[in-house]
Amino acid sequence: MLLQIEIGDSIGVGHEYTSGLNAPPNDLGFYQHPIHTGLKPGMYSDDTQMSLIIAEMVIDARMGSFVFTELDVANRFVSGFKRDPRKGYSRGLQTLLEEVRNGSELLSRINEHGRTDKNGAAMRIAPLVYLTDNLDELFRINEIVSGITHEGTAIEAARCVLVCCWALKYKNSSLNEMLEYIKTYFDSSLKLDQPWMERVKVSNDLGLITVRAAITSVIMSNGILSDVIKTAIGLGGDTDTVASIASAIASQSKDIKDDITPKDSSFNYLIHQMENSNYGVNYIKIIDKMLEGSNASSLSVSCS
Ligand SMILES: [Mg+2]
Repeated sequence: MLLQIEIGDSIGVGHEYTSGLNAPPNDLGFYQHPIHTGLKPGMYSDDTQMSLIIAEMVIDARMGSFVFTELDVANRFVSGFKRDPRKGYSRGLQTLLEEVRNGSELLSRINEHGRTDKNGAAMRIAPLVYLTDNLDELFRINEIVSGITHEGTAIEAARCVLVCCWALKYKNSSLNEMLEYIKTYFDSSLKLDQPWMERVKVSNDLGLITVRAAITSVIMSNGILSDVIKTAIGLGGDTDTVASIASAIASQSKDIKDDITPKDSSFNYLIHQMENSNYGVNYIKIIDKMLEGSNASSLSVSCS
């Protein structure tokens, strides 16, 4: 899952909020983002970094060495950023992560400034599904993990990503069955089972819109990961986040073939073009293997 998130993110980030002549071709290439010049082609952004941090918490929790409390999660968000400072976060959170020294400072600054209903909670939550097959427990921990920075419909948006991944991973659902689970768990007024075919731009309920766009990208694709990513980028706007979430969901689906990460796949050359710094693609691969390596449902989970 994590490697697929990284691919969607690092391809999508070159297209983020570009349009017209500024928009690079939607051809799975890695392109320079016009504003985040610190992010070179092939590098990932906040979506992968925060997903990686959550993946590491899941691995540690399964081994009994981490407990999902608000403060411990906030500490991991800060330390995960500080070890590898990266651009691409929303301006507010980027500044906070640069200025605070620990999770306690992060929490008190967020309490001062308030939380958001945008898509940052949804963009990072998918790896949590590897913690347990108990959906109520996933919902409970989502409240803690997402509630650090987000509120309102942003929490629902993250919860929807979990339902999608949970249905595909543990219920072996088809994509149509996944939509039925969404109808079961979410109020119809949120429209999470409805397609989103427009540009994903900053607006109220951006979290919900982003998740709808990601689900639409998976469903509208022709059954291969490369097409999921192209479809996500084709919608425009917050392309890296839509592509990251779509890739995370696609990675769990029996209906979507991964035509990028396996060595004999036609787009595997992309993996060799990706950043390979200390926390680059090889590190992501190791954490991904650890994340996917255990049967989460058989492990005791340490939560409070
Ligand atoms: Mg990003």
